[in-house]
Amino acid sequence: MADWTTTPLASIVTTDLAGITRGRPVTHERLERVATAGVGWVPANLCLTPFNTIADPNPWGSSGDLRLIPDLPARYATDRTGADTQFDMVMGDLVELDGRPWPGCTRTQLKDALAALKAATGLSVLATFEQEFQLAPADPATPPGHAFSFEALRRADPFAPRLVASMEQAGIEPEMVLTEYGDHQFEVTQAPADALVAADRAIATRELAREVARVLGRRASFAPKPARHAVGNGVHVHFSFVDGQGRPAMYDASGPGGLSGAAGAFCAGVLRHLPAITAFTAPSVPSYYRLAPHNWSASYTWLGQCDREASLRICPVVTLGGRDPARQYNVEYRAADATGNPYLTLTAIVRAGLAGITGKLATPPLVSGDPSTMDAAELARHGLKRLPESLPDALAALKADPVVTGWFQPSFIESFLGVKRAEIEFLKGRDEPAICAAYRMLY
Ligand code: GLU
Ligand code: MG
Repeated sequence: MADWTTTPLASIVTTDLAGITRGRPVTHERLERVATAGVGWVPANLCLTPFNTIADPNPWGSSGDLRLIPDLPARYATDRTGADTQFDMVMGDLVELDGRPWPGCTRTQLKDALAALKAATGLSVLATFEQEFQLAPADPATPPGHAFSFEALRRADPFAPRLVASMEQAGIEPEMVLTEYGDHQFEVTQAPADALVAADRAIATRELAREVARVLGRRASFAPKPARHAVGNGVHVHFSFVDGQGRPAMYDASGPGGLSGAAGAFCAGVLRHLPAITAFTAPSVPSYYRLAPHNWSASYTWLGQCDREASLRICPVVTLGGRDPARQYNVEYRAADATGNPYLTLTAIVRAGLAGITGKLATPPLVSGDPSTMDAAELARHGLKRLPESLPDALAALKADPVVTGWFQPSFIESFLGVKRAEIEFLKGRDEPAICAAYRMLY
């Protein structure tokens, strides 16, 4: 029966430098009408911190106006979350009032990076985001279930089946919602897709998980460290290439670890710029509690085969049943978390990889072993560098890498640094457990 007490709303959204998805809701009828000229947006919104303050100073101040244009095919809607009304979000692009792209729009930056890679190499990127989170129990005293256990999944019922149903109906192609290793930890994965679609889906998936949890009286938190010494929540970005005909183009059985020449150069570019791009992909203070050795996260400029401590992990391929390795072959970027903006994370990976390809960098050595036990000479022999150990260090690494800052307009870098400095300042005086507790509620 139709519900006459509510008018369905679709939100046109943008995701900002704090990794928060914000937007404006419109009726369905209005969505069609605003498809060309969008809805209003404010430049300084890019400088919102996760604490609902606007970083000051910022390049935009109180003046100026933008339009947020809905990309209608990038609409994620479902009435299966159990909420009273439909979940309905449309990804938007930020433009100037005359339609020129706005340099602060991270979704546009990703489109540009993908186009640049394609123009230079003929390659397109397939990607998927694997996202971990805590599903806080309704009663905080509830002990966690066993890692990966059937019982932990069923205890949370109907969370997993409802999230899968919501993702399916929204067109996200879920692969799995599973109980993970950490206390009350889950992970959600989806099928690989064109990189822009993958980033859109990552955002929609986070919000769906939050909504399904909320409806069940629980809370899904994607904070990088739910508590100082808890198991971290990573966002692992898997990527591979396809050529102009859609054929897999990353695998070469004779290359090191199966990497084609272009894929090896791409990985070399990512590792070269990794200390700087970590500022974008792991952009919060608690991100660096996670990026330490023995967390199965990422802590060195390290390419490894099937090693979950490596920052770039060449993923396994299954040959059972005659499966084609080239179709599955992909590399996983592990130095990311959900305080980061998925468009910016992928932009940084793609731009760094492209720099590796155009610079004709050699495939990095595949390192096995534990870099945290290697002395300086051995690290140098493998070309391994420790990733930044704090957000201020990551910001310093970003500022010190003119190649990376050169991918963006100066106003964008200034905004990013401003937001992050404001975040650091806001947390001054709080200890690590208090910071983890704050982010657990914010993300
Ligand atoms: N929880 C780990 C992280 O923080 C990842 C564990 C896994 O490999 O799935 O990235
Ligand atoms: Mg996992």
